[in-house]
Amino acid sequence: MARALNKLGAKSIYFDIIFSESASEEDDAPLEEVMRLSKNVYLPFVFQDNAYDIKTALYPIKRFSSVVKDTGSINIHPDVDGTFRKIPLTFPAKKEIYQHIALKIAMNYADLEIKELKLNYLLLSNNKEQFKIPFTEKNTILINWVGKWKSTFKHYSFLDVLAAYNDVLQNKKPGIDTNVFKNSICLVAATAVGLYDIRSVPVQPEYPGIGIIATTISNILNRDFLIPAPSWVSILLLYFLSLLPALLIFGEKPLRETIFTFLICGIYLTASFIIFKNGIVLQLATPLLGLFTSSLIVGTYNFVHISAERQKFFSMSITDGLTGLYNIRFFKQLVETDIKLEERRSGKKFCILMTDVDHFKNFNDTYGHQVGDLVLKEISNILKNSVRSSDIVARYGGEEMIILLRDASLKDSLIISEKIRKNVEAHLIKDNYKVTISAGLAAFKLGDDTETIIKRADVGLYEAKQSGRNRVCSIEEN
Ligand code: GH3
Ligand code: MG
Ligand code: MG
Repeated sequence: MARALNKLGAKSIYFDIIFSESASEEDDAPLEEVMRLSKNVYLPFVFQDNAYDIKTALYPIKRFSSVVKDTGSINIHPDVDGTFRKIPLTFPAKKEIYQHIALKIAMNYADLEIKELKLNYLLLSNNKEQFKIPFTEKNTILINWVGKWKSTFKHYSFLDVLAAYNDVLQNKKPGIDTNVFKNSICLVAATAVGLYDIRSVPVQPEYPGIGIIATTISNILNRDFLIPAPSWVSILLLYFLSLLPALLIFGEKPLRETIFTFLICGIYLTASFIIFKNGIVLQLATPLLGLFTSSLIVGTYNFVHISAERQKFFSMSITDGLTGLYNIRFFKQLVETDIKLEERRSGKKFCILMTDVDHFKNFNDTYGHQVGDLVLKEISNILKNSVRSSDIVARYGGEEMIILLRDASLKDSLIISEKIRKNVEAHLIKDNYKVTISAGLAAFKLGDDTETIIKRADVGLYEAKQSGRNRVCSIEEN
């Protein structure tokens, strides 16, 4: 094959075989001979450790390595997901800097030499020009894929090349166009799917390892490099994408805002792709992680904040500011519900108790409105603490309170009402002042609505006032 390719005009020939062990003399001798004469054959070797010790490397046997044009490493490592995206071009060992075979072949092909090796680039030059190869990490470049294996580079089977060589020797017209071999770089390797050297790369899940070398040589010779965006760009993008949700998400429409976040993600991916097509590689994972984390935090914070706010407004809308009791509007809604329930399942009853502070105008006049307010608060507490938690205490207006006594007959409710009245009477406000209340009680009857039952309780209250105050009256028959 080496003889054939030379005859067809190849400039460089690479065999993807290490030849680390001798075969028989009659096999090895002709290969050595042709390698020595043609002076354009390259062979690979593999470092076995990260110290790049050439002594322990898997290396071609001496009789070959001493006659070839050059050798180079073929070490390459996949990313964590098993995909090959990067290739190390140089391998700095203790005394020497070794090179990847792709760099060796490309440099020799274009008469290039290394001018400078820096942390983030490799400077190459020949007598015409000099250019930088940008590293994505130490000594490593991002491979700029030219396409799928079948649609890129020229491929010939071993037998077709040998047949063409025979034809040329016999001055016959060869079956393939042999002009393509003139001045070319020929890489000889096994490419069948299922072999060990089949790799997963971004453009194709099953890609021959030799294609990685071919692509890298092509990248170098065509100056087709992917330049990783500088780290300040990544930091800026991370900052910007993490800030966006704070400006755009308010937690009011979670679905719309989630779609919005994904939209930003989509725009970023599209923009990155367009920029990538122009040779610059933006970081994807970190800025997008920033975007989603920030969206989640901002969204959750706002959602909780708004829920708490709504809860606050709701409770403000149903309670009375001074006493903390329910207001009459909410009270009436609850009574309406209870009436509907009673109409369905007769048996259990409820009562309404209406209370009014006795001579409160006098009290206010004597002690002032502020003390009066305090009295109203304390009475509210006494009322709440004297009934069951299922009962509802509300402020009817002024110094009138109203209580929904659930699951209680008129008889039971009279006992409870009397207890409430006594509790108020026994309570001393600020250890000095004493107030009493009068109350009217009404029991639910079928046909009642909220207003009629409250009205009867009010009439009871009027009676209590008329008959001397500090008592509970009801106009219902027992
Ligand atoms: P009685 O009920 O025993 O007939 O006499 P009263 O003086 O209490 O008469 P009424 O119930 O009509 O008087 C209501 C008084 O309650 C008028 C007002 O001074 C007082 N009042 C109403 N709302 C408030 C309030 O929010 N704070 C204070 N401090 N006083 C109030
Ligand atoms: Mg009153
Ligand atoms: Mg009163």
